[in-house]
Amino acid sequence: MELLMPQLRYNIVTGDWVIIAPERSKRPIDFIKEESEGSENNTATYDPYCPFCKGNEGITEEETFRIDDGDAWHLRAVRNKYPALASSGAVARSGHLYHKTISGVGQHDVIIETPAHNLTMPEQSQLNLERILVAYRARMRHFYEDKRIEYVILFKNHGSGAGSSLAHPHSQIVGTPVMPGQVRMRIEEALRHYGDNGICIFCHCIDQEKEDGKRILHENDNFIAFIPYAALSPFHIWVFPKLHNGYFGDITDNEISDLAEILGVIFTMTTKGLKNPDFNLVIRSLSPPEGDVKFFHWYLSIVVRLSNTAGFELGTGMYINSSLPEESAAYLCSMKQ
Ligand SMILES: [Zn+2]
Ligand SMILES: [Zn+2]
Repeated sequence: MELLMPQLRYNIVTGDWVIIAPERSKRPIDFIKEESEGSENNTATYDPYCPFCKGNEGITEEETFRIDDGDAWHLRAVRNKYPALASSGAVARSGHLYHKTISGVGQHDVIIETPAHNLTMPEQSQLNLERILVAYRARMRHFYEDKRIEYVILFKNHGSGAGSSLAHPHSQIVGTPVMPGQVRMRIEEALRHYGDNGICIFCHCIDQEKEDGKRILHENDNFIAFIPYAALSPFHIWVFPKLHNGYFGDITDNEISDLAEILGVIFTMTTKGLKNPDFNLVIRSLSPPEGDVKFFHWYLSIVVRLSNTAGFELGTGMYINSSLPEESAAYLCSMKQ
């Protein structure tokens, strides 16, 4: 059976929607990794074959956002050449029980963080980090204008160990026509905590982390970064805005400046202390109408890829963290200049 466009299928056992996007691969054999892959010796500022490099704009898909200085661009967003979801078409539900399906429509952009092929996010200046966050805000707001979209996820894969397939520094933003099962569970948990205790679970985390004071990496007027008490994996970092708000798109310019500052400090720590590790960065946020709900608080998560998820985690959904969060935080803090 050949699928011409992506499709979402509901897994009735796990409660997850799965995007079946066969266009992103060719044949099953393509999943087998070649030995030569993953060599990321990207030391040059320009790669003639890279679609994201300055000078190769003609080979990318349609541009959707840009920050420039008249002639030279600092950052561009383009449509993903291999989108997980098709940008045109209506949301159509079909099937029932075991064969529940939704047409695979949505939005998928790539945010090209810099014209330079070899300037990774941890090496970016404060100004460039701010530009990246401005692009995140603009694209998230834009995606939510598409009424087919239920949920928008912003993420970055840094290094092949984190799932990145293109060396040129970039982030991705995907708008899906369904609320992902894991996100729904987090929201339900947050709602329950609010109902039981009358306080936002994330504001509660900030209060507790400040009271404990042993796992905070950095703090400024608007943000706090810490390794949580029950971090799921070694050096798993959370960055929370201090002002309660459920929607990332509401972030102010002033907050963007503080978030860029805190990210710069985190990257200094991880680059020095963990030798520029592979990582994933994710922003968890609700949609604009939910920005002022009392029970949810948007946040940014950085998951350093030092160990691979293995059978125990897959089999139980429980994580084994082989490090002590307090020691990890003290170690990273010792890397601050
Ligand atoms: Zn490039
Ligand atoms: Zn809160």
